[in-house]
Amino acid sequence: MSAPAGLSREMCDMVIQTLQQVVGRELPDSRILDLDQNDECPEDLVRHLLSPDVGLHLIFLPEEYGGLGGGARDICRVSEVMAGVDLGLATTFLAILLGTDPILVGGTPDQKQKWLSRIATGEAIVAYGVTEPEAGSNVASIQTTAVRISDAEGNVTGYRINGAKQFITNGGIADIYTILAKTPDGPGFFVVERGTPGLAVGRHEDKHGIRSSNTTGVLLEDVEVPQENLLGLVEGQGLKQANAVFGYTRLMVGAFGLGAGQAAIDRALAYGKSRIQFGGPLVEKEGYLLNLLVEPWIDLAAGRAHMDAIALRIDEGNADMGTEGAISKYWCTEAGNRAADAAIQAHGGYGYTREYMVEKIRRDVRITTIYEGTSEIQRSIIAMYRWKETVRSKGAYYEEMAARMDALHGDYPEVGADLIARSLRALNTVITGMHQARRTRHQMVMFTFADMMSRCEVAYEFASRAGSLAAEGDASAGTEGAMSRVFAIRCAAATSYAAHRCVLSLQDAEENADSAEAMLGVVAELLPPAVYTGLWLHMAEVGEHLKQRD
Ligand SMILES: Cc1cc2nc3c(=O)[nH]c(=O)nc-3n(C[C@H](O)[C@H](O)[C@H](O)COP(=O)(O)OP(=O)(O)OC[C@H]3O[C@@H](n4cnc5c(N)ncnc54)[C@H](O)[C@@H]3O)c2cc1C
Repeated sequence: MSAPAGLSREMCDMVIQTLQQVVGRELPDSRILDLDQNDECPEDLVRHLLSPDVGLHLIFLPEEYGGLGGGARDICRVSEVMAGVDLGLATTFLAILLGTDPILVGGTPDQKQKWLSRIATGEAIVAYGVTEPEAGSNVASIQTTAVRISDAEGNVTGYRINGAKQFITNGGIADIYTILAKTPDGPGFFVVERGTPGLAVGRHEDKHGIRSSNTTGVLLEDVEVPQENLLGLVEGQGLKQANAVFGYTRLMVGAFGLGAGQAAIDRALAYGKSRIQFGGPLVEKEGYLLNLLVEPWIDLAAGRAHMDAIALRIDEGNADMGTEGAISKYWCTEAGNRAADAAIQAHGGYGYTREYMVEKIRRDVRITTIYEGTSEIQRSIIAMYRWKETVRSKGAYYEEMAARMDALHGDYPEVGADLIARSLRALNTVITGMHQARRTRHQMVMFTFADMMSRCEVAYEFASRAGSLAAEGDASAGTEGAMSRVFAIRCAAATSYAAHRCVLSLQDAEENADSAEAMLGVVAELLPPAVYTGLWLHMAEVGEHLKQRD
């Protein structure tokens, strides 16, 4: 088997070190807060990071076009670090990657040579123009048109583009825009350069967070581009090109959730150690430590384990990771939001003031559940694909995962794999039962499925990782095992609760009462109250570990 794609660990460490050096120098907390307050994008810093001196974006580009050829794992690591510094800056780079992707995925060799080499040298900030005032989650409803321009012989020589794009990151500072527009044969991506007549920057958005990123409308009025600016030179490929990269762009936004959430909780932990109330540091109060620090910390660690596992599979050549990417994005961004919220609470009144970074992080991280597909869209994707897979495989999909957890429990009983196996089987029972009762047409049922599926699959990867660390005799295995067990217990509790919510919705239909009772009987047997045994003890163990951290 060939080695997974991507950089060596040392090379990726070097990229991260360079990034940390530059931002450490150029972006002290005071400047980050000023940029936020002044609603200002540090374009000079962005261009410096793109310049040959730093070349941060090169990690996203293949080697044959002057890039470093980073893999999904590298992109996730760098994204998490960037988001931990400033999510606005991270978003600027996300947009450059998103804008470059249609060229990477759909461009002809000549188009790649022409545009990617310009992007690689750092000459060009890129923007990705898909969203429109009337087309957000439903990309297929875009109204921007690209009408063919033909010569006297009827050969297509170019396109005339008309329309308006909304919420475009880098809209006001980009040199190159990749614009999705409807051609006669369906949507396609066009490269439009700044300065092209008819292209204008629209309104600057006064945003809730990520204020150091530039977000504007982009207006296109009779913008004429040559035919060679249609990516792939074939009309109607745009949606396919946009979907092709979701696997890792969703992971990237998931990494933003982790980076921002972790930065907030790190600050909360430091604060809780130094803030004295009622005669001692706040971290010594059990409720403060376990609720405000340990819970979000574990949720982020679990999300990271899932993301690492999925990124590795992408790097190993598994192209079809759209559902896994959706789970990662959904879990990690929601966990990042909860962590940032807990961090404000942990800071008390100070956390509510603009002087404290957690207040800004809380506003920043809010975007991660909205862009690159909202949480509702991720839930729809997760539920739809896993429901179909469960039905197609006659329950084997989750049963095989449960069996692997049984085996893991046999080897490493401390990581909570037994509870995950039980949760997976309860999930399987509910999906199958609700399918047979023809209840899957209800979005609330599907969303509840998605919540159970995400939690169970994240728990599965977290426990697998804890098992591997135990097998390697890693120094962190004890704490990771305790974290995994806590997560598994909470997974079992959440699965039981969600299963009841889902199944009891059947009770309004008389004819389904028996099947509802049968399903709940199976769930109760799999997940009895005893599954909660030891929850707070294991959380306290993790809490002790957090208190010892520098
Ligand atoms: C700061 C920022 C930067 C952005 N950068 C870019 C960029 O660079 N390029 C770009 O093209 N776009 C960008 N976007 C756009 C972003 O991707 C969209 O805002 C997002 O996809 C949601 O679309 P919408 O805002 O139109 O919301 P809508 O699609 O109108 O959704 C509104 C609400 O309804 C929910 N909803 C929608 N459909 C369903 C459904 N079927 N079932 C249940 N609930 C549903 C959504 O989850 C959401 O909660 C950016 C947005 C922001 C705010």
